[in-house]
Amino acid sequence: MAEYGDHESSGDPLETLRHSTAHLLAAAVTELYPEARYGIGPAVQDGFYYDFDFGKPLSEADLPAIESRMRKLAQADIPFIHETLSRKEAIDEFTRRHQDYKLELIADKVEGDEVSVYRTGDFLDLCRGPHVRSTRDLKAFKLLRVAGAYWRGDEKKPQLTRIYGTAWQSQKELDDYLKFLEEAELRDHKKLGKDLKLFAVDDRVGPGLPLWLPDGATIRRELERFIGGHAQLYKEYMYPPMTFEDGEELELRPVNCPHHIVVYQTELRSYRELPMRIAEIGNNWRYERSGTLAGMNRVRSFALNDAHIFCTPDQLMDEVRGAIDLALYFSKVLGIDEFYYELATRDDVKEKWLGGEEQWQEAQASLAEALESMGQTYRLGVGNAAFYGPKIDFQVYDAHRREFTNSTVQVDFQLPQRFDLEYVAEDGTRKRPVMVHRGAAGAMERLFSYLIERWAGAFPTWLHPTQVVVAAVKDEFNAYARQVGDRLRAAKVRVQVDQRSERLDRKVRDAKLKKVPYIAVVGGREVESGHVNVQNRAGEKVDMPLEGFVDMISAEIAERRR
Ligand SMILES: [Zn+2]
Ligand SMILES: [Zn+2]
Repeated sequence: MAEYGDHESSGDPLETLRHSTAHLLAAAVTELYPEARYGIGPAVQDGFYYDFDFGKPLSEADLPAIESRMRKLAQADIPFIHETLSRKEAIDEFTRRHQDYKLELIADKVEGDEVSVYRTGDFLDLCRGPHVRSTRDLKAFKLLRVAGAYWRGDEKKPQLTRIYGTAWQSQKELDDYLKFLEEAELRDHKKLGKDLKLFAVDDRVGPGLPLWLPDGATIRRELERFIGGHAQLYKEYMYPPMTFEDGEELELRPVNCPHHIVVYQTELRSYRELPMRIAEIGNNWRYERSGTLAGMNRVRSFALNDAHIFCTPDQLMDEVRGAIDLALYFSKVLGIDEFYYELATRDDVKEKWLGGEEQWQEAQASLAEALESMGQTYRLGVGNAAFYGPKIDFQVYDAHRREFTNSTVQVDFQLPQRFDLEYVAEDGTRKRPVMVHRGAAGAMERLFSYLIERWAGAFPTWLHPTQVVVAAVKDEFNAYARQVGDRLRAAKVRVQVDQRSERLDRKVRDAKLKKVPYIAVVGGREVESGHVNVQNRAGEKVDMPLEGFVDMISAEIAERRR
């Protein structure tokens, strides 16, 4: 990005366009609110923002006026002019404009005597560019919303008003994007979570502590069975959460790692025991600022699916392959289709990283080789490693096209050293194991919020809290409906028999609102033939023997088909 204090601009034309639109926004704001002070205004994914200190709250109702001023300035064809000022000139300019935030940035971020600025008409910004030629080049943009943001992300600093907008090369792209936002809104997990009664957030319980309602808890149970069950296939030692007999948690943990180390250390380990894998879905607590809490997405208490692998350096590559395999399998079953890998390595700033040069090279090579040998392409994130070791992050896009890390494999040189971990090698000497942190599905809560949005509530059958609704055409066939329900229940299908004295249309509509995978309709003909008339979510209807339906849905559930 082109602001001082941000990372360098990539020179990508779309990024340049968006950053230029941020300048246009600030130019419009300073015309309409001469007392406003401006902070920073970078391009971000799908758009841009600019932070302002208005001295009073601004609301979304103020956005149309700002946007129309932006259009006026765009039509006026004002050039973006690059100037280099001396430090003193720059300080004088921004002092005259009462732009304290810019003065602070000059003091902190500008080295040497030359200060790069951009002028658009009367508006002046501290900026390295690049920019578009003229405001005329900015045609397809829209202001979206306002949010609070602390100056330089610091809670002790003033809270500014962040105005978000989006900008594109063409009106068509802008329209498509706005349509996408509308659809994402419909998928919003907070809305669906409420409509489908999956979870609730209640102030009496506390912010960031969502309650799993029965249907949400059913999905969670299925996910735990799936994730935990699969981990078993990897011969992992599932480690139960530490609880007292009365159910009290031993400790509020921010992560599982230290406990797994303690398990490793209970005995002197031999090379024969390695790799040793310890996995659990454990409850963890972490303080998150109340402003950042969102439904099930950002919470203070969460269940983390987490494993730690203790292995020899030689075993590292295979362990990483196993972790990638697991992540791929999970994403296939859960429907995580849009993702990429980032291999995060160290850079050359030596004092930033813990561990020896050779150790890092070997571990980084193992991670890269694991990905390549599995035919997976990846992005290289030089300098993005954790200070304690390199890692592979499995980055996923949610329905709002926000990116988050769903799975991660991290090599750790620090903890084995700090806890003085050892194993007895084949030659009888004591050696230090490599430790790998593996988060295969992240926090249960965030995975859940992702899945709600991914499927827009229409979960695959195996995951859906109600797999079948049985509805009779008339009350007189309710007895057969109950019989069908009992048969399905015996096959461990989650079924609900709708025995209300309602019209069939109504029962079908209600089941569809809950996005139930199958509706089994029964009437006189079905009673006689022992059949059911099955309708799926696509509205396709098929008449089949009850036993055939039981077989079909049982197979679909057992295979966790999408
Ligand atoms: Zn700029
Ligand atoms: Zn860990």
